[in-house]
Amino acid sequence: MAFHITADGKKLVTLIPGDGIGPECVEATRRIIEASGAAVAWEERAAGASVFRQGVPSGVLPETIESITKTRVVLKGPLETPVGFGEKSANVTLRKLFETYGNIRPVREMPGVPTPFTGRRLDLVVVRENVEDLYAGIEHMQTPGVAQCLKLISRKGCEKIVRLAFEFARSEGRTKVHCATKSNIMKQTEGMLKRTFEAIAPEYPDIEANHIIIDNCAHQLVKRPEQFDVIVTTNMNGDIISDLTSGLIGGLGFAPSANIGSEVAIFEAVHGSAPKYAGKDVINPTAVLMSGVMMLRHLGEFEAAAKIENALLVTLEQGILTRDVVGDAKAVGTRAFTDAIIGNL
Ligand code: NAD
Repeated sequence: MAFHITADGKKLVTLIPGDGIGPECVEATRRIIEASGAAVAWEERAAGASVFRQGVPSGVLPETIESITKTRVVLKGPLETPVGFGEKSANVTLRKLFETYGNIRPVREMPGVPTPFTGRRLDLVVVRENVEDLYAGIEHMQTPGVAQCLKLISRKGCEKIVRLAFEFARSEGRTKVHCATKSNIMKQTEGMLKRTFEAIAPEYPDIEANHIIIDNCAHQLVKRPEQFDVIVTTNMNGDIISDLTSGLIGGLGFAPSANIGSEVAIFEAVHGSAPKYAGKDVINPTAVLMSGVMMLRHLGEFEAAAKIENALLVTLEQGILTRDVVGDAKAVGTRAFTDAIIGNL
């Protein structure tokens, strides 16, 4: 993938602050990345609530689309989705427009962050199909009182996401991929992912391949999560179980993600805009920061990525934690947490 290089030799990234807690998380991440010395420059653009308010029904401005087409790399805060007004989600617009067909959502046990699973060394990745399924957003009223939503699954889409899961597993030295579907009930749509997975798995003899029914997967994720390495699944299943997996390691504040396409990659937290915490200097910026670390590796900035990851882990080990982990009494604010990470770089 060719990146846009600025006159002073930096890789240009489109930066979308987003809504709610987005600007605070993105500002923290930007400060830490700049302090790490990474060769990255920013082009800030808008999407989400402010754009909907200007009357743009897609929630994404033309200059934002132009910037992403040029840079091919985006770091974004969460975007609020207006509920029930007929507008589309700006996130779905971006994913579909730039065909970011794969959403990679890793979770890993964090030092100093107590959970019921502490010590079990959880380290797993949900690979979620990102543009098909019920989230294609094709729905209508059949008759007054009866609504229908179309579940679209294509063979091509299944092949792309299954290959992404196996290639990603191989690139990270992972040894197991589970395919989680509801193929026992939806034999054509969910079944297509299962059949495609079983057809492609023999091409990766070095990786153990298993199919699991999605509801059992949810149960197993809570009972014995350490058995999982990579889980590939359809769009809505992946949306739900990746919030579950974030809960295993301390919550949404720790869950990063990458939306991968053949041309463009968009890095963002799993969490949303959490509007009730916006502007209060209380939220945990780690999920956006770790998304930034994934972005730095995508850009080839491996040294800066490792430096930031280490500084974050040291900060957590020092017991410097936000309120989602330790509650109000012992917590530091978002800015103080960010300063501590910069101090540990
Ligand atoms: P949310 O993820 O915004 O928040 C749920 C809860 O998780 C919060 O109330 C808070 O307790 C906790 N939380 C989330 N992020 C946190 C952080 N960084 N630090 C500490 N605690 C954190 O989910 P929601 O309330 O269902 O959604 C709010 C809005 O965000 C909606 O408009 C939704 O559509 C949108 N959304 C956007 C994205 C995205 O842009 N990718 C993803 C999910 C939801």
